[in-house]
Amino acid sequence: MQDFIHINRLEPQAREASERVKDFKEIYSLLPKKDVPQQAGRCIQCGDPFCHDKCPLHNYIPFWLRSMKHSDGMLAFNLSNETNPFPEITGRICPQDRLCEGACTLNDGHGAISIGAIETYISENGFKKGYKPRFPGITSDKKVALIGSGPASISTATYLLRAGIKVDMYEKSARGGGLLTYGIPNFKIEKSVVFRRLEWLKEAGMELKTNVQIGKDIAFEELINSYDAVFLGIGAEGVRKLNIPNENAKGVFSAISFLKAMQNKVFEEQFDGKYDVKGKNVLVIGGGDTAMDCLRTSLREGAKSVKCLYRRDKASMPGSKKEFKNAYEEGAEFVYNVSPKSVIVNANDETIGLMMEKTLLSIDENGKQSLQTIKQSEFKIDADVIIYSLGFSPIKHSFLLENGVELDKSGRILVDENYETTKSGVFAGGDCQRGSHLVVTAAADGKKAAEHIRKYLENG
Ligand code: SF4
Repeated sequence: MQDFIHINRLEPQAREASERVKDFKEIYSLLPKKDVPQQAGRCIQCGDPFCHDKCPLHNYIPFWLRSMKHSDGMLAFNLSNETNPFPEITGRICPQDRLCEGACTLNDGHGAISIGAIETYISENGFKKGYKPRFPGITSDKKVALIGSGPASISTATYLLRAGIKVDMYEKSARGGGLLTYGIPNFKIEKSVVFRRLEWLKEAGMELKTNVQIGKDIAFEELINSYDAVFLGIGAEGVRKLNIPNENAKGVFSAISFLKAMQNKVFEEQFDGKYDVKGKNVLVIGGGDTAMDCLRTSLREGAKSVKCLYRRDKASMPGSKKEFKNAYEEGAEFVYNVSPKSVIVNANDETIGLMMEKTLLSIDENGKQSLQTIKQSEFKIDADVIIYSLGFSPIKHSFLLENGVELDKSGRILVDENYETTKSGVFAGGDCQRGSHLVVTAAADGKKAAEHIRKYLENG
């Protein structure tokens, strides 16, 4: 219980920045085996663990830490995989400083428990030993269609298959995984990690149908009629635009289109040369984790210079501290308190720079922040490529409205407390329902939706 006094927090080793920018391989290694029991033993086993409360999946964190302290890897594996549909993924990509580790009682100077790193270790070490997530086989005559193959749908599929219910997953792209595959770069999560989970779901009875676009290749109505329930896990793929002059110029891209194109390059699939940043001056607008992904991808692609432009100050950046640190170490520059005013183009409508304005952040007596641009503060930054990462919003698919699935004014799918939409038997969760958020919150939605779908099927 007092181990934390003489054992310091240990983080997984990252490859040297100068080496890791040469490839797209993951940058972290697993915690060394010899250190895991000690690191897990730093946990003080709080009676009311804040880490558990703050984790959107409410993982049994102190329990699996205690198991690892006593080197019971199998118990830790089973506990971890019970509440989490993919612990080796969340361990890698959750912003732990804002979630479990941020809430850890020791995060007050002693150093939080390395929860994410231990979570990844428990699963990866278990897989090496031959442990696998367990499924009972299909025992129900009901079947569910899942639209989208990202984190919300993978989670729903996992918990329905555990209940013995057959699922078919429909994905519009060539590969499954959604955002995990096409929106998060390899250096944060190698795609074999995502595909391994999908393979296990397939072994458990799921059929993954790729290159199928709902409303084009198959009617939504047909799915409603041929399945006992439908789950919508279609994410939020709409992009917030800059809304400044010349934003459609050549060389201006949304973050997701850029990351998708680069992931296809990693897959050695057809690469659209317009996204090539080699030797170019790249500006990334935005301060979240996706912006960091674009900066780090541009550096790996050999950009001449890579700058992040953020309208507030460093302390207000919304992303994870770990991702900021990684981007900074790898060579990204940061410019704070600036706002884009217009894209500067040449006669061929090619991007040659960005006109910026300085901003002033003020805080009133109630702590409310407001941001103003400073008059006559314009300045120009040279740029060949501008990538904007201002957040995502759900797309208002016509097939939803045509079939009685109502949306709110922001385009989010309306659900009741059971994750059921306004169309009976159609459920939704993740970004398409709550708006753009974290992988782990999509996983939590999928888990809860699966439970309600199971009850719906039992009563149907
Ligand atoms: Fe922490 Fe995320 Fe794992 Fe929950 S799922 S314990 S928030 S790393």
